[in-house]
Amino acid sequence: MPGTNKDCATCIIARCREIATHTEVPGEITRRFLTPPMHAVHALLHQWMEAAGMTVHTDAIGNLRGLWLSPVANAPRLVIGSHLDTVPNAGAFDGILGVVMGITIVEELRERQPPFSIEVIGFSEEEGVRFSKAFLGSLAVAGKLDPETLQRTDQDGVSIAEAIYNYGLDPANLPAAVLSRDAFAYLEFHIEQGPILESEGISLGIVEALVGQTRMQLLFEGHANHAGTTPMHLRHDAMAAAAEFVVAVEAYATAHEGLVATVGKLEASPGVGNVIAGRVKTSLDIRHADDNTRRAAVDALTQIAKTAATRRGVTLTLRTEMEQSAVPLDPHLTTLLHRAAAQAGYPSRRMTSGAGHDAMILAPTIPSTMLFLRSPGGLSHHPDEAVLPQDVEAALATAMEFLALLSPELSDDKTKDSHA
Ligand SMILES: [Zn+2]
Repeated sequence: MPGTNKDCATCIIARCREIATHTEVPGEITRRFLTPPMHAVHALLHQWMEAAGMTVHTDAIGNLRGLWLSPVANAPRLVIGSHLDTVPNAGAFDGILGVVMGITIVEELRERQPPFSIEVIGFSEEEGVRFSKAFLGSLAVAGKLDPETLQRTDQDGVSIAEAIYNYGLDPANLPAAVLSRDAFAYLEFHIEQGPILESEGISLGIVEALVGQTRMQLLFEGHANHAGTTPMHLRHDAMAAAAEFVVAVEAYATAHEGLVATVGKLEASPGVGNVIAGRVKTSLDIRHADDNTRRAAVDALTQIAKTAATRRGVTLTLRTEMEQSAVPLDPHLTTLLHRAAAQAGYPSRRMTSGAGHDAMILAPTIPSTMLFLRSPGGLSHHPDEAVLPQDVEAALATAMEFLALLSPELSDDKTKDSHA
């Protein structure tokens, strides 16, 4: 039975903790795509979804899907989802929180007979751990799962197609996993996984966009030589060139609003204290919500690397390993969500997500919006990952206001037609 938001928040946290007991590795939370503990997770969620009046099935990529049908004829469908898999030794809330919140919203809302149906999706895979390929669940729902992907294998040589068979599903049914044509919006709740909301003392973040990202490898090649006999002016020191670059990356990103840039790897060879480094391999990771700003940063920083190398007679080789455009979320839904938080009495902040989420895959297909909940200690992908009961309460109250704001829009037939 629906209770107060406070009761619901306590229950949502307890349910996440219960799901967390189903793991591949006793004593920690590790649950990869379609591994045995996923059966128990599906069984629990299935039970809660059915109790909430939903019909439940598992699609061919292993997404658990519950549908509550509005009594209103031809009602369009709101989709609420997040993921069920985890990284190794994870926390209890990354992903699963958004699924459990979806079920609670159905429990709370169905008595009010809203003019839309609600489908809650627990995506089978988002983290990319088992097959080094992320977003398998949402890619299938977006109709963008490349058939060749099914041949990828895990560390035991099991392909994605075999993993699907072994779980009791059939990859031939993948086309049926695609989002229903009556779906009009996607809503995802997720922990922030970063320190911004906590540093500002607020519960909720309204995600405007998921950042774009460039990952590169830079190879500085000079000459290894004796540290004692080679005078400074006759050196070709790859380490000094790389070091100048590393410090410039930090300075550039600090000076540009919203930009984050990281050199997380530095490998020197021969890597000996009394030898000038002949070769240094570094990484570069640059992220920003605006693709032009990110590209400008890539250009500027590679130019700095070239200058630092040339001055020392060092050569530079660049390789781009990944380039992902930013994904904006739906501006109208995002504004509604922001207004909903204010109406529910909670301050919220518009922000970008520095990490990828299922909403990133679905946003090009369906108007999507995302609500972040504060991460205590900014901690995630860690056993101490947590969420505060008052923040879950705030998210739930915001969701109820958001759905109330959405309802009158759906009564307008034109709105319905435009999304059909
Ligand atoms: Zn996640």
